[in-house]
Amino acid sequence: MMFDRSTHGGAAIARPLLSILLVLTSLACSRAPEPLSAQTDPRDANAAAETISAADLRVRIGALAHDSMRGRPTPSPELEKAARHIARRFESFGLLPGDGDSYLQTFPLTFSSRGASDGESLTIDGPGGGAIGSEDFIAVPSVSGRATGELRVVDLGAPGVLTGTIALVSVSQSNANAALTSARDLLDAGASGVLFAVDASDQYFEGLRRFFSRERMAVGVPDELIAPTALVRMSSLPAALQSAIGSGGATGQFSASLRTSASFRQDQALNTIGWIEGSDPELRDEYIVFTAHMDHVGVGRPVDGDSIYNGADDDASGTATIIELAEAFASLPTPPRRSLVFMTVSGEENGLLGSAWYAEHPLFPTEETVANINIDMIGRNWEDTVVAIGRDESTLGDMLDRVLEEHAELGLAMIDDPWPEENFYFRSDHFNFARKGVPILFFFTGPHEDYHGPNDEADRILYDKTARIGRLIFFLGIEIANEADRPQWDAAAYRRIVEGAGS
Ligand SMILES: [Zn+2]
Repeated sequence: MMFDRSTHGGAAIARPLLSILLVLTSLACSRAPEPLSAQTDPRDANAAAETISAADLRVRIGALAHDSMRGRPTPSPELEKAARHIARRFESFGLLPGDGDSYLQTFPLTFSSRGASDGESLTIDGPGGGAIGSEDFIAVPSVSGRATGELRVVDLGAPGVLTGTIALVSVSQSNANAALTSARDLLDAGASGVLFAVDASDQYFEGLRRFFSRERMAVGVPDELIAPTALVRMSSLPAALQSAIGSGGATGQFSASLRTSASFRQDQALNTIGWIEGSDPELRDEYIVFTAHMDHVGVGRPVDGDSIYNGADDDASGTATIIELAEAFASLPTPPRRSLVFMTVSGEENGLLGSAWYAEHPLFPTEETVANINIDMIGRNWEDTVVAIGRDESTLGDMLDRVLEEHAELGLAMIDDPWPEENFYFRSDHFNFARKGVPILFFFTGPHEDYHGPNDEADRILYDKTARIGRLIFFLGIEIANEADRPQWDAAAYRRIVEGAGS
């Protein structure tokens, strides 16, 4: 409706005005939709983000990384003290407890160590067989017991049915990681024992002996299904058996008797969990989980007389940021649409144990967990650059790019993982979420000369940068929590990470 002059005078005038108004209104309606974060008033968001401060981080990291915390090993009274401190903070911010009426998820730890050496032996029966000397044999402290049976060379990709046999796996330095973690699957396939034939240097073999001779910590209670497991030097096996292993041929003529002994002790550790319920009746049953690890490696070999490995960057920087994020989100007048979960875990340095336990015992439905934002070591290296590992694996990357653009005031640049050969993707707690199908982003600013050393101290942290990364993660959290659609995996990444990992 453009001006129509042919009809009624005054009314003529009024009518066009009305149509102008109508147009204006429709224009208003058709204006590009408000940025999603606007569903959380930007003024409120900015005010909340400002509470994430370098000054607060300095206090929190200073407390967590103080010498009196003795490097917060798992388990320890100092780590428990940190967990209970964080639980009190969550409660004081008004967060809801994550585990029933508790902010603490307790999980069992099993320490296994090799038992008496006279309780260990390995005999190979068949051409050229005999007893294997203890210098050529390493019992894995898994169980006290005996396994006897035909030796069956196993193809790790397709072990087949192994009932009543002792599975024989060829191990070299290149496949050690995959091979040595396969025992569980082989026992599930029916094997009564597992023997790893190690074809590597003496130095490497002795390294394995030191590794398996240390007391080992595992999450959970002793696994009744675990059976005698050991490593043997390939060159100590009968020649015919070695060539059969090499060719993947039949070893029916060989059998073995394997005896191992182990002793166990139980302990426990804590994950700290608090949450904020979302404001949208439709979306509040979907969750974003923010994580960091509270633990570090404890007291170790002294360097210049200092033996406390303070772990200020690793990962007091992430843990303190989680506390600041919880406080900032709790300060919003209206929570974002989806629910927000804040979790600090134990046992990360010992094999991602706390997050592994959570992944198997989730307190919020995994299938409704739309994202995990993990923070580990964001306090050192560059002033204005941060790495977000996992950026290309889901639409979380696009959201992050949008937030970066919207919040140029943070002065942060994002780069892809410059250390792919380090496999950092598999080395922090997000991996236990990713392998369960939860899209992840892992914020990290990289290793440095004090990594896992006594000089990873609070006075070496870049507090202003850490606070800016914290604010970035805050705005990202708002974006994910308010976005109509939940983050989506890239199909190839999903196949690689979730299906490849065997969730
Ligand atoms: Zn760490």
